[in-house]
Amino acid sequence: MTTEIYLDGNATTAVLPAAANAALETMCSRFGNPSSSHGAGLQARALLETVRACARRVIGAGHGRLMFNSGATEGIQTAMLSALVALRDRRAAGEAIGRWLVVGATEHKAVPESLAHWNRVLGLDLDIVVLEVGQDGRHDLAQLRRLAPDAGLVCTMAANNETGVTSNLAGIEAALTDSAAYWLVDCVQALGKLGLDLQRTRIDYAPFSGHKLYAPKGIGMLYVRPGAPFTPLMVGGGQESGQRSGTENMSGIAALGEVLAALESGAVFSSQQQLEALRGQLVTSLSAAFPGIVFNAPSALALPTTINFSVPWLSSRELLDLFDAAELSVSTGSACSAAKAEPSFVLRAMALPAWQTEAAIRLSFGPLASEREIAAACARIAHCGHVVRVSAMLPPTRKPVEHIAPLHNVVCFTHDGRSSWLVADVLARSCVLIDVLNGAATPIDRHVRRHGYRIDAMLETRIEAAGLAPRPVGFGDYLLTPVRHGGRHVIYVLTRAGETLIQASHAFIGQIAARDIAPGMVGQDTLLLAATDESGRLATSLRAEHAGQGEEANELSAAMTGGYLEAHPNARLIDVRELHEQLAGQFARSTGERERMAEHVPLSHLASALHDWLAAPETPLVFYCRSGNRSARAAACLRRLGHPAAWSIGGGMAAAADVVRAERAA
Ligand code: PLP
Repeated sequence: MTTEIYLDGNATTAVLPAAANAALETMCSRFGNPSSSHGAGLQARALLETVRACARRVIGAGHGRLMFNSGATEGIQTAMLSALVALRDRRAAGEAIGRWLVVGATEHKAVPESLAHWNRVLGLDLDIVVLEVGQDGRHDLAQLRRLAPDAGLVCTMAANNETGVTSNLAGIEAALTDSAAYWLVDCVQALGKLGLDLQRTRIDYAPFSGHKLYAPKGIGMLYVRPGAPFTPLMVGGGQESGQRSGTENMSGIAALGEVLAALESGAVFSSQQQLEALRGQLVTSLSAAFPGIVFNAPSALALPTTINFSVPWLSSRELLDLFDAAELSVSTGSACSAAKAEPSFVLRAMALPAWQTEAAIRLSFGPLASEREIAAACARIAHCGHVVRVSAMLPPTRKPVEHIAPLHNVVCFTHDGRSSWLVADVLARSCVLIDVLNGAATPIDRHVRRHGYRIDAMLETRIEAAGLAPRPVGFGDYLLTPVRHGGRHVIYVLTRAGETLIQASHAFIGQIAARDIAPGMVGQDTLLLAATDESGRLATSLRAEHAGQGEEANELSAAMTGGYLEAHPNARLIDVRELHEQLAGQFARSTGERERMAEHVPLSHLASALHDWLAAPETPLVFYCRSGNRSARAAACLRRLGHPAAWSIGGGMAAAADVVRAERAA
């Protein structure tokens, strides 16, 4: 049983139960091939045509073509091929076809990519022009009017997948009045959310995708206006009246048929008004949870099911992790790698400030969303807001909330593969910062304020002037002693009062390779902490460097973890997610999920805990995090430093949750 609330409907949706049943029945009992002439085949053909007729009514296809295919990406290819082959043939016949292929600046990548692809493959080589959008996300109609007389093809979308902004289709149509251009409108995000009557428009091609509206992945459809040029993308057995060969995906078509029938009945999905009310609740709770929040698209122009926002001071990665820990599935505005969220090209095209484009979060739901579900989502959003307040903006005089990791004294802040370090004497409430980068300044500032530290010094391991002699820095009970390395670098060695350099617990080595550090400058087990950590090693030591510890397997599969923990009752289970994720996760846990007592040491604080763990090699360590990546780095680091039993739970918390579920079901 999952407690996850899914708010990423623009990416994909669950399958409507009636649609899943229809698909199953089609696969198991009514499995005929619609091209066969026996009873089973005829039955399949009847179903195929029933669904097609329903689809025609729902989108207002009139006498246009309507073929089933694998989804919107395929429909887009077919449309591009059809339009561009026609342009090529007309040009070969001596007709003027215009100079431009026009594509909206905020289209889904499938559109510009396939336009460039087919333009090249067909040797058409027309110029591709981007149709700009304004700050409201809508196309620049003045630019379109200028381009229209010389355009061969115009590609726009009905509604944007990142912002939900709906296009002014009537305005675009008016701008194209005297143009001979073909017109493709990507209708993927519009189905079920915007009224469509394609026969009343001059739209030539309209692709759709089933999985954005409760049908399975792998089923879609393409509308082609009567008289618009058409070239099949796939030829072969002549299915779909020769428009799209290949045996039809009958289970997908049956499922899509259920969704279309539900749309047509008007009884299953929420009305526009109801969806707007649900959006209103979400917007209210987001605004209360995150003061200063900015919504990136005007709600009056957007689908009621999509909310795109940015929060000052919080990166999209931080927000994503926070929501994820609260088991709210949302996404960044755009594709995002685990390490770094790329700024959204859609928001950039809208010329929004850089911070908004970099920190955007998209929250989207489908027309099946219930009041209960949205109310539960609002409660979790409120909890996330609370977490942000207590973890990031706690006034210095208040004690941090209990269960936060003890106040460690060596903390790493990474930005773009570079590391800045904070060393604090927790009791004296003073700290020193080393190699602070621009990008790390905000999280460091938050950390310093949260703990009420005084900053005693800001140090650099790279020294600009070769002659300058850095001096030792004392703070609280600690001393950071600079040791020169070549003309331009210095290593800062951390000791407590009365200790010698070789007794040092940590040394900040900046850009210097650990293997270049001479024995005697630091101890064999002094933790060497670098300013660049692109390989994700976290920490090393002279002993580890010389031992050249191989990369041993250090992963416990989720299935093995339970057994391992039972066989090793002294094992320490350590959550290495960052503080805001751990706190947000409390919410999910309070809903009853079984959890073994775990320690909380965020990866950024690992350097503070390493010595304690290394001093107890007989105590196994089992690290976990959200996906398994950070815990794998922690376990590998401990192994490298000589701990014989440091493990990471492979697949992270999701995999661990599966184990719990499987145990329950058994
Ligand atoms: N167009 C839009 C607006 C979309 O949101 C998507 C999917 O994200 C697509 C096209 C591509 O759809 P599919 O991946 O189903 O082919």
